[in-house]
Amino acid sequence: MAYKVEKATQIADNIFELWINAPHVAKNAHAGQFLVIRIDDSGERIPLTISAAKEDLVRIVFMTVGKTTTYLSKLKVGDEILDVAGPLGHPSEIKEWGHCVVIGGGVGIACLPILAKALQDAGNRVTGIIGARNEKLLLLADELEENCDELVICTDDGSRGFHGFPADILKQKLEDKNIDAVWIIGPAIMMKITSMATIPYNVKTFVSLNPIMVDGTGMCGSCRVTIDGETKFACVDGPEFDAHLVDWDELMNRQRIYPEQEKQSLELFHE
Ligand code: FAD
Repeated sequence: MAYKVEKATQIADNIFELWINAPHVAKNAHAGQFLVIRIDDSGERIPLTISAAKEDLVRIVFMTVGKTTTYLSKLKVGDEILDVAGPLGHPSEIKEWGHCVVIGGGVGIACLPILAKALQDAGNRVTGIIGARNEKLLLLADELEENCDELVICTDDGSRGFHGFPADILKQKLEDKNIDAVWIIGPAIMMKITSMATIPYNVKTFVSLNPIMVDGTGMCGSCRVTIDGETKFACVDGPEFDAHLVDWDELMNRQRIYPEQEKQSLELFHE
């Protein structure tokens, strides 16, 4: 069985959205879970977060960073993807927390709509904070306006919204209000720095880790991360973990172990 692309759109600079017909994933997907795709039988497997699910369709939003994401960005409506495995990983811890803040950086913003909606449906007040380098890289702001009680937009260069980082807004919110839980999803360095803000307030803070991941089912060990001194596999134990327990330096070092191979693979793809 192959999986048909039903909608393919570029939504920001180097960022694309695909809606894929994958009924078994769409019907069982929860906030925080991901899927693993393989475009064709010579392709590698890559993990992507489930950004939305509607009837038989599942949405992925991705940034073109290398060979497979570039190949994926070239798919058109009607094209087929060979494998879509999922939903994988543990869902986000959705319950009645009270006031939740969901923070997205860069392409990590794509993970927020399904999370914000699940938290709202569970009776929480949801504040969204999204940040990108500039306004051309901002995504899904209109959709998040609908799924959050309040949305703050930040850009590093001030081209839209607050001129600064989501961490600056989070600090203000922590000073002003009672916040019960925070989710931060984005590049590792952004998650590390932003999550430091909640330590003095002792607020439960989740991050969705994005180590290099291959099989997605706990067999290969590529996605191992250290949480509170213990080895965990992001694919089956996560991908969400308590931000204050993550060994960030190890995660960031392991994300950069194959730069030469990734460069060569992209060059060969362009030839
Ligand atoms: P490559 O040239 O192979 O690599 C470029 C960089 O991407 C690498 O340096 C590395 O940091 C990362 N990467 C490479 N291979 C993998 C891999 N197998 N697994 C994880 N990271 C890898 N990206 C999105 O744009 N949108 C998402 O919703 C999203 N969700 C993710 C969810 C999870 C649970 C994880 C672990 C990662 C997610 N990523 C997401 C990252 C995405 O998987 C990588 O961008 C993609 O695999 C890069 O493949 P490539 O061939 O295009 O790039």
